[in-house]
Amino acid sequence: MKKNSATKDLQFDTKWKYAPAPESADHIQLKDRYDLFINGKFTAPTSKKYFDTINPATEKRIASVAEANAADVDKAVTAAKNAQSKVWSKISAAERGKYIYRIARILQEKARELSIIETIDGGKPIRESRDIDIPLAAAHFFYYAGWADKLDYAFPGMKTSPIGVAGQIIPWNFPLLMAAWKIAPALAAGNTVILKPAETTPLTALKLAEIIQEADLPPGVVNIITGAGATGAAIVNHPNINKVAFTGSTDVGKIIQKSLAGTDKRYTLELGGKAANIIFEDAAINQAVEGIINGIFFNQGHVCCAGSRLFVQEGVANEVIRKLKQRIETLIVGDPLDKNTDIGAINSKVQLSKIKSLVQAGIKEGGECWQSECTVPSKGYWYKPTLFTNVAQSSTIVQEEIFGPVLAIQTFRTAEEVIEKANNTPYGLSGGVWTDKGAKAFKISSKLNAGVVWANTYNKFDPTSPFGGFKESGVGREGGLHGLMPYVNLF
Ligand code: NAP
Ligand code: MG
Repeated sequence: MKKNSATKDLQFDTKWKYAPAPESADHIQLKDRYDLFINGKFTAPTSKKYFDTINPATEKRIASVAEANAADVDKAVTAAKNAQSKVWSKISAAERGKYIYRIARILQEKARELSIIETIDGGKPIRESRDIDIPLAAAHFFYYAGWADKLDYAFPGMKTSPIGVAGQIIPWNFPLLMAAWKIAPALAAGNTVILKPAETTPLTALKLAEIIQEADLPPGVVNIITGAGATGAAIVNHPNINKVAFTGSTDVGKIIQKSLAGTDKRYTLELGGKAANIIFEDAAINQAVEGIINGIFFNQGHVCCAGSRLFVQEGVANEVIRKLKQRIETLIVGDPLDKNTDIGAINSKVQLSKIKSLVQAGIKEGGECWQSECTVPSKGYWYKPTLFTNVAQSSTIVQEEIFGPVLAIQTFRTAEEVIEKANNTPYGLSGGVWTDKGAKAFKISSKLNAGVVWANTYNKFDPTSPFGGFKESGVGREGGLHGLMPYVNLF
């Protein structure tokens, strides 16, 4: 592994030293043990089993959460079915909207506490949970609350009716935000839900259950149950679930798609990605370097749409790689609760070993690996920002989703060549184009086989714009009007 020749070029050879600025976690309110949120109440699991959720930055236990089995799933589905047919579909659309607005406002009121909990449970820097996850989660509730009484205008010339009960399963990379993506449109359209957060990050979803109680939602409209993969499978396979919304890995997405084949359940799958971030010679290079950093190191690379493959046009490749290394050496890796931290902890031990083994595969296949010289804390799960050069289209590191702070760099000469290379993956979730020419940005983005393409920016999200992929990156869209469609029957 090559170490840091880039530091020689650094204009300043010591990193800016900031005094520690940790966010205080004293005021947050967490229970030691969480039950399942079913029919408006926290209820002990039939299984009588609980598992721990830990802080990946310290490896310390935070709380225990219940493990729901098939009997618990059945209780939650029954509660949701009754609530849908007897209450939620009967109240006026404007009333439904009011409840959703109330959730949005309480999320805003509790934003600071929720950000801290998101950070300690999942390992992401407080700056991200504070500035991105929590405000965007509230924004999704606000946005869909607005649609609740305007569904007749959402799809011109068509009427809508709710689908029924939605089973929703989410991953660990944006826990509260993914819950908002799922719950807000479902409720606005008159459906009720059962949501299962990921095993490693259940706490903000359970805080959301408390917020839902506080907002006085009718019991059973939202049910939040914790557990592992088997709990998720029990939700998917329950006969009274009418729609499945899943965000997670392509492997699990395929299992779910198989088990839904032959049923009349509707589904959306938001799966993995391996995005190409493309830098042309005419791009504003310093800006592009920031975009590359944001594209892959944001949230430790735990982002489905991460710009994990970098394509640089040959004439600027040396400059881009040199500046990228310099910039990486200035990133602050460490305590996620510190307001200066750029890169936090890897979400779990399992994910850390997955990243390590893919990097080893990359080295074994002849890739040239460069890592930041930063030091990382001795306790907890950490991975240093890593670059790979000298990789081929067929390299494991170029083809497989790593879901960590690891960037594979390739060069190209022509637009045709980079389009072909960028599209040469089983995924099609997102991409980025950096160029000074607007026409070029449009031309390239229209030829990329990806659901979202950013031009001269990266990882920008908004509740009004749809998100989702092609090929093995999934089926259906979330966000915007497109995100309402999977939750309504149109006639
Ligand atoms: P995952 O292993 O597929 O898990 C996702 C969720 O599914 C978790 O709640 C998981 O429970 C549950 N689950 C596991 N096995 C299941 C089964 N057989 N049936 C039903 N549910 C099951 O994915 P992850 O590792 O948490 O998340 C990372 C993946 O999500 C990446 O591939 C990433 O690209 C993708 N992702 C995609 C998007 C998008 O919008 N396209 C957004 C974010 C993430 P446990 O936690 O208990 O295992
Ligand atoms: Mg945790």
